[in-house]
Amino acid sequence: MSNNRYLTKEQIYKLFTIKSADVNKYMKFGMPHNKEGKEISFPKSRVVEWQQQRQQKAKEQFEVGKSYLNQEIVDRLGCSGQGGMRRSHITGTLALFTDKTNTRNPYQDRWINGKLHYTGMGQEGDQILEGNANKVLAETYHSKALTEVFLFETHKSIRDKRKLKLHKFIGIVQMNGPEYFEKENGRLVYKFPLEVVNGEKIFEEPDLRNTEIESQKKQQIVDEEVIKRLAEESSKRNINLNNNNKKGQQSERKVVKTRVYERNEYIAAYIKLLANGKCQLCEQDAPFKDSFGVPYLECHHIEWLSEGGLDIIENCVALCPNCHRKMHSLALEEDIKKLQLVKQE
Ligand SMILES: [Zn+2]
Ligand SMILES: [Zn+2]
Repeated sequence: MSNNRYLTKEQIYKLFTIKSADVNKYMKFGMPHNKEGKEISFPKSRVVEWQQQRQQKAKEQFEVGKSYLNQEIVDRLGCSGQGGMRRSHITGTLALFTDKTNTRNPYQDRWINGKLHYTGMGQEGDQILEGNANKVLAETYHSKALTEVFLFETHKSIRDKRKLKLHKFIGIVQMNGPEYFEKENGRLVYKFPLEVVNGEKIFEEPDLRNTEIESQKKQQIVDEEVIKRLAEESSKRNINLNNNNKKGQQSERKVVKTRVYERNEYIAAYIKLLANGKCQLCEQDAPFKDSFGVPYLECHHIEWLSEGGLDIIENCVALCPNCHRKMHSLALEEDIKKLQLVKQE
């Protein structure tokens, strides 16, 4: 049966850019369908609605201009953790990453007049447009396939010593013209002209109009937001962990677990950020800057972890190395009181 209201399997392949083997998977995911004997048909409006709903859920988890860790993107979109073009069957999305951190990057994406000319996938030889994410992207233009395309811009966190990569959500993008071929480094690559459809206009041509320093400053603000968010999430997790452990101790049937807290590096980083380069006990500037140019301070727990203190923002202060030693060898009542007051401010 095929008419305006129902779609055949073949039409479904086209609409989702999937192969016949994927259709069963999609029905398991909840794609609306009617079975009559061996005949399966797909009510068009409900299928479209279903796809839009799961995409909407995915979109709601990202804020334009905010940066995310790779794992956060994987968890929220249900995509793989690698590659510059990541398709997710679970959320009906395609995540594109444009990476300017690596100058030897074989993908040379360019912003021209507010449009990103995005390089397709395939690192060696001529790129192809079949059975891969290039095809998935191209079909959003040629067949109006219902894949929602997310664009992330990859950058390095300048405050994170592990050189963590962060991915800024630029917005939802759409192809605004057909893909084309270009010769790049002796091979043919596909270019996809993309337009941001839900982002703010200021995210056009990111960084190109900025001087180095301005973009560094912006980068720092982004980093600080991410560190704050991660520290707050870690704090919450540690509070919950503590509450659960308490419950565990109350119930006698349960084995009393020893509390093992990982000292959270994001909480420590955030505490140092808040201290703004000054020791919170002696109020002097940090004695030196580390190799990243960040004032050197240490994170101290007012109520010690070994005595049941929690690794949460509220229990942490940034101290110079001298004051930190002093706290641990003398633990003067007046110093503890002062640090508690500092936290209440
Ligand atoms: Zn100090
Ligand atoms: Zn300490």
